[in-house]
Amino acid sequence: MNKLDSSLVVSALQEAGYDLTDSVRDADVVLINTCSVRGHAEDRVLSNLGHLKHLKKTRPELVVAVIGCMAQRLGPELLKHPAVDLVAGPSQLPQVPDLIAQLRGQHDKLLAITDDIRRPVSEAEDQALDTFEQDFDSDENQLPGQAFVRIMRGCNKFCSYCVVPFVRGPEQSRSPAAIVEQARKLSDRGIRQVTLLGQTVNSYRHVEGDRTVTLVDLLERISRIDGIHWIRFITSHPKPFDERIFQAMADNPKVCRYLHIPAQSGSDRILKAMNRGYTCDDYIRLIDGARRIVPDIAVAGDFIVGFPGETDEDFEDTCELVRRIRYKNCFIFKYSPRPGTRADQKLADSVAEEVKKRRNISLLDLQNKISEQENRNFIGQTVEVFVEGPSKNPHLNASETQALPQLVGRTGSDSIVVFPGPANLAGSFLSVRIAKASALTLFGEVAPQS
Ligand code: SF4
Repeated sequence: MNKLDSSLVVSALQEAGYDLTDSVRDADVVLINTCSVRGHAEDRVLSNLGHLKHLKKTRPELVVAVIGCMAQRLGPELLKHPAVDLVAGPSQLPQVPDLIAQLRGQHDKLLAITDDIRRPVSEAEDQALDTFEQDFDSDENQLPGQAFVRIMRGCNKFCSYCVVPFVRGPEQSRSPAAIVEQARKLSDRGIRQVTLLGQTVNSYRHVEGDRTVTLVDLLERISRIDGIHWIRFITSHPKPFDERIFQAMADNPKVCRYLHIPAQSGSDRILKAMNRGYTCDDYIRLIDGARRIVPDIAVAGDFIVGFPGETDEDFEDTCELVRRIRYKNCFIFKYSPRPGTRADQKLADSVAEEVKKRRNISLLDLQNKISEQENRNFIGQTVEVFVEGPSKNPHLNASETQALPQLVGRTGSDSIVVFPGPANLAGSFLSVRIAKASALTLFGEVAPQS
């Protein structure tokens, strides 16, 4: 979601005549797009602002803008920081180019956030956000041939640890016509894969006359666009989950067989305290059902370790769930109290930092072993990958690359594949024969194309 927001703002500023620079010393304007989900992310923003404060002593004309969730959360408090000129929340991103233009004409500070964040955005704001998505969804700032398409904003779940409902507002689904139109325009520009985004993407609902359009309908409508070959959607919430989504994966070759569905804990007691709305058994039943319909579905999860009151037994329940589900991969986070959330207000952050760290390492270790075992099953298989471009880190040795660049691509089930090939393959689909596997990556070479 944040990557998409950044790329929209960058495109809008490019349209206004700005160029991107890698060096903060060359910049006339510095934008920091922020995340509030964990304290650590916010601490890094404050540390960057500390550096910018010094830079502004020698270059007072430099404009520094903090945008996104932290901007919405802290608002006027953040604007008091000596480095900060502009604070703009997620709903005010369409205004950022104008606000920067105002700041460059005069040296004042500007605040643009939503006063009552739980109020649904007005029709005019909704329209402005929609136009912004449509106009600036340039693929130049994304991977070749790929684009993110936001299908909904905000969240109504109120998980007790999570700040998102307080910074991104209530759940609101975009109109299916606007989404399909955007996907069609993207396809005309050469986009082959779209990833539909929502905090709880499977909650997508839009009333159209006397019927309600759901994610299943959207997948079907987007798949009718010839140029779009793969459709992904992230992130799903386990409850309620419409099992017809699995049927769409099974029946429609354009719908990728990948499900990112955070469980957060394997302990019912902790799930209740997290206000997640399901039990561990509910979650297992859902994944078992998914695998009955789509046997080769890849499942990725998120877990929080060290939630207030989490005992060794609760943590063992989480490990047991990870063993039972056999995720493709998991994102594991240490609990970090977020101001304004129910967990922060009502529950003491009782698990010691070193225990959180130990549980984090041990769960990651368990998941890595599972990922490695699962990845070994790919050895000898030929998989279809969508090529992203040159790999940032070298993985293969010289004898394996035949002096070609090392490319990275992803399968429909989100496995990362590294293989040698010419850089101009970025943005295309290829068959790759897998020869080696690690926990995180598959390695292979381009197979004869059918
Ligand atoms: S579902 Fe829960 S964790 Fe996800 S964004 Fe909403 S409140 Fe946060």
